[in-house]
Amino acid sequence: MSRVPFVVGNWKLNKTIAEALALVTELKNQLAAVKGVQVGVAPTLVALPAVAKRLEGTPIATSAQDCFWESGGAWTGEVGPAQLLDAGATWAIVGHSERRQFFGDTNEGVGKKTRAALAAGLGAILCVGETLAERDGGRTLAVVEEQLAAGLAGVDAAWVPRLVVAYEPVWAIGTGRTATPAQAQEVHAHIRRRLADRLGAAAAETIRILYGGSVKPSNAEALIAEKDIDGSLVGGASLEAADFIAIVKAARGT
Ligand code: PEP
Repeated sequence: MSRVPFVVGNWKLNKTIAEALALVTELKNQLAAVKGVQVGVAPTLVALPAVAKRLEGTPIATSAQDCFWESGGAWTGEVGPAQLLDAGATWAIVGHSERRQFFGDTNEGVGKKTRAALAAGLGAILCVGETLAERDGGRTLAVVEEQLAAGLAGVDAAWVPRLVVAYEPVWAIGTGRTATPAQAQEVHAHIRRRLADRLGAAAAETIRILYGGSVKPSNAEALIAEKDIDGSLVGGASLEAADFIAIVKAARGT
C-alpha cells in the first residue's frame, strides 16, 4: 500500500500575520513544482484566515493547531470545527502534547475533539506520545495505545481518509533530541496494529502515521525511510522556509 507522505508545519505561538503570510508565500512559490508529497501548515488562529486565503488554489493545506468539540454555546475562548472550516482550515491538530501538558487536555477530551473535527468534515491529526519517564519506565507502547484508544473512540470508518495519527514522543519535542528511526518505527508499527484492531487491516494500511519531535533536514530522510513513517509533524524547523522545504523534499516520493 503506498500512502502519500504528509508533512505538516506546526507554527505554534509564532509569527505575526505579516510574517505568516511572508513564509507561506515563499512555501507556495518554492513548493509549486514539488510532487508526491502533501503539505500543510498550522498557523496561529489569528493568522489562519489570511494564510488559508493566500493558499487558495494551491495544494498546501491549512490546519488549526487545536479544535474544540462544540461549534456553539457558552465556551469562552474556544473555537470549534464550524468556525475553523469557516476560517479556511481543512485540518486540525488534536491532542498535541503541549495541549495535554499545559492546557489540561485529557485522553477523553482529545477523543471528543477528534470526533467533532472529523464529523464536521475536517481532517484530524491525532497526536500521541510518551514522556521520558514513561519511556524509561518501559511504558511507551501502553501509553500510546491508551491515548490512541481514547482518541479514536467513536471514530467512524467513513472518516478514515481524513484521519492522520502523529507519534510525537514528548521528550523529543523542541529538545533537539530525536527518536532514532528504529525507535520511531517500533511505535509506528504498533500504532498501525492498533489501528487495524480498531478500524480493520485494510483501513489501517491507508492511514498516514507522521513522526514529530525535532525533525530537521538532517534527520528527515532517515525517519521517512522507515516502513510505517509516512511524513512528519514539524515544529521549530517549520518556521524557516529553507528547512521546512528541505524536510518536504526528503519526504517526496517515498
Ligand atoms: C511539534 O510541536 O509538533 C514538534 C514536533 O516540535 P519540534 O519539531 O520543534 O520538536
